[in-house]
Amino acid sequence: MTHPIRPFPNGGSAPLIPKPHNPLLRQCPQCAAEIPLVRFQVHGVCEAPACVQAKAMCAAQARAATDLPVGAPLRAELTERAGQALATLMQGEESDIDDLPMVAVPHQNTPLSPVSEERRALLAKSLDTHIAEAFETAEQDITLQYPLEEEEPDFPASDMACAMCQGQCCILGASHGFIKGEILQRQRLRQPGLTPEALKAYYMGQVPEVSTAGACIFQGERGCALPRRDRSRICNTHGCSGRKALESLEDDFPGRPIAVATYGKAGIAAIKLHGSKGEEAIWPGAGTPGQS
Ligand code: SF4
Ligand code: SF4
Ligand SMILES: [Zn+2]
Repeated sequence: MTHPIRPFPNGGSAPLIPKPHNPLLRQCPQCAAEIPLVRFQVHGVCEAPACVQAKAMCAAQARAATDLPVGAPLRAELTERAGQALATLMQGEESDIDDLPMVAVPHQNTPLSPVSEERRALLAKSLDTHIAEAFETAEQDITLQYPLEEEEPDFPASDMACAMCQGQCCILGASHGFIKGEILQRQRLRQPGLTPEALKAYYMGQVPEVSTAGACIFQGERGCALPRRDRSRICNTHGCSGRKALESLEDDFPGRPIAVATYGKAGIAAIKLHGSKGEEAIWPGAGTPGQS
C-alpha cells in the first residue's frame, strides 16, 4: 500500500498546552479537557476511555519503536532470512552487499474500525480548546515559527519504510491528531477572515468513516486523511529512529541501495530493497506463510 503518512515527532514545535488559569487544573494531553492536577499527576489523562486507551497505546508504540534490532543482529537476521534474494538483487547495483545498509522499522497491522461518536466528541472538544487559543491573537499579530507551506520531503527509501510500516507512530495522534493552536493559526494566516466555526467544521469534516483502531482518528484506509499542508508540524517532521537513520543515509549517500525490514509482533513482517530501480520486495515471497 502506498502510505502517504510521513508522521511526526519532532524537530518542530512542542505541543501547545497552555497553562490553565487555575493552578489546580491541567489539560488532558489527549482531548484538552481540564482535569484536576492530582489526576494529571497520577494518570496523565482524563477519565474518557479513549484517552486512557490512547495513553496505553502510546506507551506500547514507544516500546515497539525502540525494541528493534540494529547493527550486527539485524544484519544476521536479514541475511539468514533473505540473504540469497538480497545478493541476487545487489548484483545489479554498484555497491557490495557487505556494505548494504540495513534498517528496521515497526509494522502496524491493526484493523480499521468505524470512528465512534465518543472519539468524534473528543476531537470536537480538543478543537474547541485549541481553536479558542488560536483566536486569542488577532490575525495581524500572529507570528509563526515555520513557513506557511510544507516542503515535500525527498526521501524515497524513508517513504518506502513508512509505507511498509503503515504508520505505526500515528498511534500517538489518538483523538486529537496534534491539531493545536499553532497549526490553527497557520490556517488563519492562509485564509484571512476564517471563522472558528469554519475551522472546526473543516477538521471535523476530514475524519474518515473508518480509522485504525485506537490510533489517530485521521488515520484512515489509505493513510492520513488530512492533506499534508493541513497536518500538524509534528506530523510532517516526525521520524522514528529507523526513519531518522534512513533519512540521514539518504542525505549522506543519495541513491545508495538500502534494505528495510519491518517488524511486527511476530518478528519480521517484510523486507524490501530500495535500489537503483526503486523499491523491490524481497520477503515474503510468493508462497511464504502470512506474517504479522
Ligand atoms: S517507519 Fe517510523 S516514522 Fe515511518 S510510519 Fe513507521 S513508525 Fe512512523
Ligand atoms: S494527523 Fe494523525 S494520521 Fe495524520 S499524520 Fe498526524 S498522527 Fe498520522
Ligand atoms: Zn481526555
